[in-house]
Amino acid sequence: MTECHASSNRLASLRASFDEHEIDAMLVTDEINVRYLSGFTGDSSYLIVTPDDTCILSDGRYTTQLAQECPELRTAIRLSSKAMIDLVAEQIGELGPRRIGFEASTVSVAMFNSLQSKCTAAKWKETVGMVERLRMVKDAGEIALIRRAIDIAERAYRSIVPKLRPNWTELEIAHELESTMRLLGAESASFAAIIGSGVSGALPHYRPRPVTIADSASLLMDFGAKYKGYASDITRTLGNQQAPSVAYSGRSSSVVSDRFKQAHAAVLEAQLAAIDVMAPGVPAKDVDAIAREVLAKHGLADAFVHGLGHGIGLQIHESPRMSALSQETLAAGMVITVEPGVYFEGEFGIRIEDDVLVTDGGREVLSSLGKGLDDCPILM
Ligand code: ZN
Ligand code: ZN
Repeated sequence: MTECHASSNRLASLRASFDEHEIDAMLVTDEINVRYLSGFTGDSSYLIVTPDDTCILSDGRYTTQLAQECPELRTAIRLSSKAMIDLVAEQIGELGPRRIGFEASTVSVAMFNSLQSKCTAAKWKETVGMVERLRMVKDAGEIALIRRAIDIAERAYRSIVPKLRPNWTELEIAHELESTMRLLGAESASFAAIIGSGVSGALPHYRPRPVTIADSASLLMDFGAKYKGYASDITRTLGNQQAPSVAYSGRSSSVVSDRFKQAHAAVLEAQLAAIDVMAPGVPAKDVDAIAREVLAKHGLADAFVHGLGHGIGLQIHESPRMSALSQETLAAGMVITVEPGVYFEGEFGIRIEDDVLVTDGGREVLSSLGKGLDDCPILM
């Protein structure tokens, strides 16, 4: 599907929800939502969507890029002497007395006050998640880009793991992953990789440090690539299972405990059980509950301290969330991470994360790296 077709379908879907939200037009201010609806990859630009027109409001830096990326859209380019809010007021003013939806998550109180004082004919209506709801279900073009982002991340991981040596630091591993993903075609990492050796793996949002991985029995690697705007997100937890006498380097090295092996197997069991129930119509919170039940059976319920997963797309974390609080129901076309984890402060942490596409018939696991402990060895 071309970008033009994609954006006209998306704009049509947005317009179809105007009645439900009791609005006649919509001011889109969220940068990612602007990109999703228009195909425009720049920043500092807004969209005004009416039932029969779409106008992108931008500035002179982007005239050429707008013509290339969204030639079908009307453009309103502000002069450098004019504030964006005044361009918005001018365009909204031309619509007359209308009910205009605005995105409550990106319009500040100051901007809202300006909109009200400068557009006196408009009736402003707060909206939440109108475009984000459309973004939850990916079209074929988006799924292809996510597959590519996953492939890049996996190739980087496969090239780096065999090279790990005790003198590598967490930070070096993170940099090596990122630069390899860029060499393979990623525009960047989709987020700052979490590389936690040994006890650091117990911190779910750890930032890698310049400490060597020597003598760490385990290594948690959470990473992803961004390809043409779309993110992948994968976690593997590696463990050293070799007895010290046969370790590759001939030196004494730490090996994972039986407790680690049991916990790793339990996390994998929870992940597989959760993936197994994913299908259109299933409440997202039920999938979270399945993973929690499996971990509870192994006495690990208290160690699973976060939600089971989140949507990926133009953002690394987007709707739907899979947690006990989730109100969403799975639908074909959603791409969601499944990432149960257990964390023991001062000891170790284990997380296993894959990217899963909900399909008409159930689900397809898009990521493919081996994930049993035997598939995730530290050899050094
Ligand atoms: Zn992750
Ligand atoms: Zn994630």
